[in-house]
Amino acid sequence: KNSGRLIIVAYRLPFKIVQEEDKSRLVQNSGGLVSAVLSLVSEQEDSIFNATEKIQWVGFSENSPEELKGQSMTNESFQAHPVFISDEINENYYEGFCNNLIWPLCHYFPSLARFDDAYFDAYQTANKLFFDKVNEIIQPGDVVWVQDYQLMLLPDMIRQQHPLNKIGFFFHIPFPSYELFRMLPVNWRKAIVDGILGADVVGFHTNDYVEYFLKAARLVSGYGNKLHYINMSNRIVKVDSFPISIDFAQFNNAYDTSEVISAREEARSSLKEKIIFSVDRLDYSKGILHRLQGFMRFLENHPEWHERVCFVMVVVPSRDTIEQYQNMKMEIDQTVGAINASFGNIYWQPIIYQYRSMSYHELVGMYTASDIALITPVRDGMNLVCKEYVASRKDEQGVLILSEMAGAAEELGEALIINPLDNQGIADAINEALLMEPEEQQKRMKAMRERIHDYDVFAWTNDFFTQMLMLEQEHERLK
Ligand code: UDP
Repeated sequence: KNSGRLIIVAYRLPFKIVQEEDKSRLVQNSGGLVSAVLSLVSEQEDSIFNATEKIQWVGFSENSPEELKGQSMTNESFQAHPVFISDEINENYYEGFCNNLIWPLCHYFPSLARFDDAYFDAYQTANKLFFDKVNEIIQPGDVVWVQDYQLMLLPDMIRQQHPLNKIGFFFHIPFPSYELFRMLPVNWRKAIVDGILGADVVGFHTNDYVEYFLKAARLVSGYGNKLHYINMSNRIVKVDSFPISIDFAQFNNAYDTSEVISAREEARSSLKEKIIFSVDRLDYSKGILHRLQGFMRFLENHPEWHERVCFVMVVVPSRDTIEQYQNMKMEIDQTVGAINASFGNIYWQPIIYQYRSMSYHELVGMYTASDIALITPVRDGMNLVCKEYVASRKDEQGVLILSEMAGAAEELGEALIINPLDNQGIADAINEALLMEPEEQQKRMKAMRERIHDYDVFAWTNDFFTQMLMLEQEHERLK
């Protein structure tokens, strides 16, 4: 057991802060990361952290410092430490460096990446604001877990001042091949690699991302590696893959709840004989337009399925104040309209398209009602939707069509794996899935379910922390 506390640092606080008279109350979001982190702390002998200490969470708060009186707040499990970032810095930092540069570059859309010195200045300033907060609260023995591409400089900032604390870093999006990474100016590249390598354990979703990062570390900062280890002058960094996962039991158990049963029955009775389903945030990385092209090809090639199939496509609003996203939304609207107008008739709409978010029960209702989940990102760090689909299918039925560009494809080989840019490949896979015998569906679904069951989000966090706490012993062994 670790004697210190757990400090999570992520861009956002996972709480809504509600002001009540003169005190503030934290309303916890129900994210996967929140429940996974909670599972690390308990009174049991074998849990990693002691339950007597609250988990410390450092993150940006949209509330103003005046409103919160600059204070930290607690609930039964967490102590939240808000970081205040001015609108001006946040625009260049979060909208700018993070979402206009790092996001498109790491998702292989370099043409959408914007390079601006003001972005990088703001990125450094903002990382320092997070550091100041960590610096205020950290104690000897505390373990710090830094999350994602918004905070790549932070691990080393902490390391410089607190060389003995354990630090982990997890990168939630794809780490790109060197040819993309090198598009960043030399000093930015170096700051990023050195910043990340301040951690003891650096985690990515897949072995490919690990390999690309190790290559970047070698070429940018001259650090060689032995398998998963980089030997720095006075310490060792472990770089490894930890495919993030979901709460398998929660999705599996939802199958039999009354809300999900009625959502499923409603979908089955009001839609066509065969249902194809997709849900993703509005983002160019999700391959929504290519998916529509693939579906259109399927309709062209297979008139025998007309009027028997419907494709329910839900797009969850995201970043739609940005022009690129608005344009993409308009193109999706037009393409859906064109497909429905040319293939449908007054009794049948091939595509039911919604631009909104779904409730949990509606979502699992659709996961469990559909014959096919059609998940076709052109690039996705992991993709949790496909794992949720598999975990929801307690009936062991349904076919997953999955892009080879999703990190999850490494684990879900029993899916029908497609190239998201290949219209014909998508069309063929849809037809194959619609014709797949129940026994074959079951065989594939069962294998995938076992894998996600065994490596759920709790196994994921446990794996990460076990590696972090074992590193000292490995250090001795590697000497
Ligand atoms: N999701 C959501 N709102 C919705 C529909 C889905 O928050 O209306 C959830 C979904 O259950 C999944 C997450 O959004 O957990 C999407 O995760 P994924 O890794 O697939 O993609 P990301 O949006 O993180 O790129």
